[in-house]
Amino acid sequence: MEKEMVRITACDVVDCSYNKHNACHTLAITVGGPGDTCPNCDTYLHGTQKGGLVDIQGGVGACKVEKCTFNNSLECTATNITVGKHQGHPDCFTYKPRS
Ligand code: SF4
Ligand code: SF4
Repeated sequence: MEKEMVRITACDVVDCSYNKHNACHTLAITVGGPGDTCPNCDTYLHGTQKGGLVDIQGGVGACKVEKCTFNNSLECTATNITVGKHQGHPDCFTYKPRS
C-alpha cells in the first residue's frame, strides 16, 4: 500500500532557504540528527539564497526521532506536522514524547 507523505502545514522558520510565506517548499525534510536532543529539522539551511519549489508543499521524508509517539520504524505517522523555532533552532512542533 502506498503511503501518503506527511505534509508540513506551516513552518515559521523564515530564515531558512526553503521557507517562503511561512511554508516549507522542499519535497521532503529529514527530522532528527546525530546527537540531537530536540526533534530538529535537519534540512534547515540558513542562507539568503531561496530554494525549493514554490508549487510544492513540503513533507516529511524520514524522521529519526524514535522517542516520538508518532514515530514508527523511523518514519512519521502523524496526520501532518508544523515546524517552528525552539531556542534558536528549527524543531518539529508536532513532536510528542512517548509516555
Ligand atoms: S521545515 Fe525545515 S527545511 Fe522546511 S522551511 Fe522549515 S526549517 Fe526549512
Ligand atoms: S511528529 Fe514525531 S515522528 Fe513526526 S516528524 Fe515530528 S518528531 Fe518525527
